[in-house]
Amino acid sequence: MELTGGLVSYLERAVAEGGSGNAAVVHDLEDAFAAFAGAQFALCVASGTSALIAACHAVGVRPGDLVGVSALGPVMSGQAVVALGARPVFLDSRASSSFGVSAGAAARAVDRGIKAVILVPMWGYWDEQPDALALFRDRGVPVIIDAAQAPFLKLDGGLANHAAVVCLSLHSRKPLHAGEGGVCLTNDRQYAERIIAIRNFGQDAGLEAGHLVPSGPFGSRTGVNMKMNALGATWCLYQMDHLVPLRSRFDRLRQRALEAFGTTDAAWREASLAATVSEHGRYGLVAICDSTHDARRLTQVLAAQDIEVDTKRYRYQPMYSAPCFQASGERCEMAEQLTQVAVACRLEVFARFLPPEHAAPEQATRTA
Ligand SMILES: *Cc1c(COP(=O)(O)O)cnc(C)c1O
Repeated sequence: MELTGGLVSYLERAVAEGGSGNAAVVHDLEDAFAAFAGAQFALCVASGTSALIAACHAVGVRPGDLVGVSALGPVMSGQAVVALGARPVFLDSRASSSFGVSAGAAARAVDRGIKAVILVPMWGYWDEQPDALALFRDRGVPVIIDAAQAPFLKLDGGLANHAAVVCLSLHSRKPLHAGEGGVCLTNDRQYAERIIAIRNFGQDAGLEAGHLVPSGPFGSRTGVNMKMNALGATWCLYQMDHLVPLRSRFDRLRQRALEAFGTTDAAWREASLAATVSEHGRYGLVAICDSTHDARRLTQVLAAQDIEVDTKRYRYQPMYSAPCFQASGERCEMAEQLTQVAVACRLEVFARFLPPEHAAPEQATRTA
């Protein structure tokens, strides 16, 4: 990887500040995410999984509780629930072309007494319907959005206005990345304080120059260490300084992806998006094919162009298919249908088709 002057000076600053998650440069990243997402509080954590664990804990999930989770989410979303000693309740999708949850499944889960719900806009596709969201709100079920694959997702108003906590992953395969890392976004001061406590050995939180930071003795509450490494944070901060070229890069990647998906006569349409979406999450392109035959054809044509299609596609199954969740015995019909006909591809795999001036920012400007 080529490094530019800006990234190097951020790295030097992180080292000078000690490199921990309490470094001022991490606060700068938090400020950048708060502004980017229109959230009052942005709290960096060690990973997307840590963000989900902290968010669930903050909204009150405790051992033995039930937590609703989109059945089409990856095992990581459910594992975060299990890590707290709680149990996932899998929510079917509303249609075989949608990653949004069904209102019926939401109502049954609420009746079972779920303590919170995790909605997962897979590949960047948000398709939650007003009736399901209204139900969670009216029944007092806090909504956590696992936007690990959808950091750019924008709904009318900031994303944090639509959830108790929004969780991002900054893993290197995600559109905004730090190697490892995560972010919790919230407009709720109490949730923010609880996230700081669980992240910083149970410390309380106080305002310092308008920034919510840990203060006081360790162990005032329950907490462990879920802080982010400041060196990774600088890499992400550098990307946050280059959001305009990054967006245009993702536009170009999507264009290349659409061209590649168009080189077959397979019949498909894109996975559905809610009317409230003003910006796609930008992780991938998902084609919903008319038949399993079309899905197979499309996959073969992409593979023949040496495009890393989700090669696990024929094994892409609802979350409960993972051995660690099989005891639940649950089945979600729409989610299963979707996995039979969806062909999904990360946008990043099309990077090699871009001219060098549209490379990732840290590669775009070469140092002599
Ligand atoms: C990647 C991912 C996670 C886990 O994030 P990590 O940073 O790897 O812990 C959780 N949920 C979804 C939807 C993801 O894509």
